[in-house]
Amino acid sequence: MIRNDHQSGASNGVVRTVKTWSSVAFQSTLDFLLPRTCVCCDAALGESDNRVLCTLCVSRLARLPAPQCARCGHPRSPGSCRWCEALPAFVRAVRSVCWVPGGPAGEIVHKLKYSGWTALAEPMAEQMARLNFPLDVTEERDLLVPVPLAAARARERGYNQSELLARLLGERWGVPVQEALVRRRATETQTRLTPGDRLRNVAGAFATVLDGRELAGRHVVLVDDVVTTAATLNACATALHAGGARIISYVTFGRARAAGDMP
Ligand SMILES: [Zn+2]
Ligand SMILES: [Zn+2]
Repeated sequence: MIRNDHQSGASNGVVRTVKTWSSVAFQSTLDFLLPRTCVCCDAALGESDNRVLCTLCVSRLARLPAPQCARCGHPRSPGSCRWCEALPAFVRAVRSVCWVPGGPAGEIVHKLKYSGWTALAEPMAEQMARLNFPLDVTEERDLLVPVPLAAARARERGYNQSELLARLLGERWGVPVQEALVRRRATETQTRLTPGDRLRNVAGAFATVLDGRELAGRHVVLVDDVVTTAATLNACATALHAGGARIISYVTFGRARAAGDMP
């Protein structure tokens, strides 16, 4: 269910307008109008803080601990990597900033998705941009593709949080962004589904809107806010690979713990 927080409705409108106008003059007016408190902890924001999120909340993110699997970025457990086993062979690497839930991350993601706090995408993308991908991924990645929302959900929300993250990440990495995927059919919300049901739910749900020449030979990085079982990302990657992409990597802000992960 989509929840719209109408209490923050007034600032929503302003925040969204800024995304489109983004003029320096307007920005300073906005800074004057918006309450200068952290959206997560209500602490007063200082000069060194981001516009919406304080540095303390950023420091409290429950980062994925080291050592990590070089391919999927999941904290390493002894033996083979179970997280990797779920990934299609053409997926090169996956990286995520922090556990969700954990620290303020759950609230950050929730406010970005459901309460219109689109400005949170900036500090999130900043953390994502710093993730340590294998060198070949950093050198090769040549297209960022956001995981698409269902059309009805996009209309209701007015924006796709993954696209916001992809655009900001694209600016930081100097990589172009394209909305290369569409949802072919509505899928059930994944929250209450078992891993097997999630796979069946999203299999074949995505299609690429680019022709084969545009994707041919590319190393595409799929962008999403949170990865849980990777069923959605895998379905997106499969559509891109079928559409001509050579290799696909994933980047997300949050990652759900799998069974057996340490808190
Ligand atoms: Zn804070
Ligand atoms: Zn792995």
